[in-house]
Amino acid sequence: MSHQADLGIKRTGFRFLDVDAQPFSLVERQRDVVRIADFLNSATRLGSCLLAGMKSGVFLERDGILNLVRMERQHPVSPLRAEDFYLNGDAWKPLRRLQQAGYLLIATTNQPEISSGLLPRQELERMHDLLRQRFHLDDILVCPHSADDRCPCRKPKAGLLKEAAFKWHLDLAHSFVVSDKWYDADAAHNTGCLSIIIRAPWNGAGHHDMIVPSLAAAADKILQLQPMPAASDATPSQASVPEGTGVMV
Ligand SMILES: [Zn+2]
Repeated sequence: MSHQADLGIKRTGFRFLDVDAQPFSLVERQRDVVRIADFLNSATRLGSCLLAGMKSGVFLERDGILNLVRMERQHPVSPLRAEDFYLNGDAWKPLRRLQQAGYLLIATTNQPEISSGLLPRQELERMHDLLRQRFHLDDILVCPHSADDRCPCRKPKAGLLKEAAFKWHLDLAHSFVVSDKWYDADAAHNTGCLSIIIRAPWNGAGHHDMIVPSLAAAADKILQLQPMPAASDATPSQASVPEGTGVMV
């Protein structure tokens, strides 16, 4: 049975990542070289972090990366019912490779429809139960607020990443953000993570470190940059998380 069949993926009426496969531009390649050089120059710090028990993580945007999205007026729309929540079967293999390399996998997502009442929390929990079961994610962090709430966790703010770093003892300087949206790249930039953007028409403008055509290519980049030893004690901190940050579901 294929992974896709195993995951029970239904694609009818949905699109995932309207990605073109154009090669990187020269500017993107130059940016890659600079950022990768900076990253590798900190290898000695990585060694001390490993000795200190710190881990590296891969932060994954949820909508469009882990689950399929419905398109409206050429923009992705988050599902509001568990019945409309379809996993991205192409994510299974890259995520498994990253897990086997020792990375913690943490999904992050802005879900302002919780705050507006359009998305019942019970529906969100049903969706995330499915995500955890099929992709074996270590954590899922949610900002339930609207832009008007001015919370510290709505991406591009860095609250969700900082919360995860505290909870899981992550070294953010050796962690990655994978997304198809500008605001995740901004959050990465604000915390020192390396951002890898999967090319899509709605990427948006702004800072990003690398751009790739697929999640599989993002996993390749991560594994090329920083092979990690297998983690054996990935447990969250017992300390309470800082107040005023995101909601864990
Ligand atoms: Zn928030």
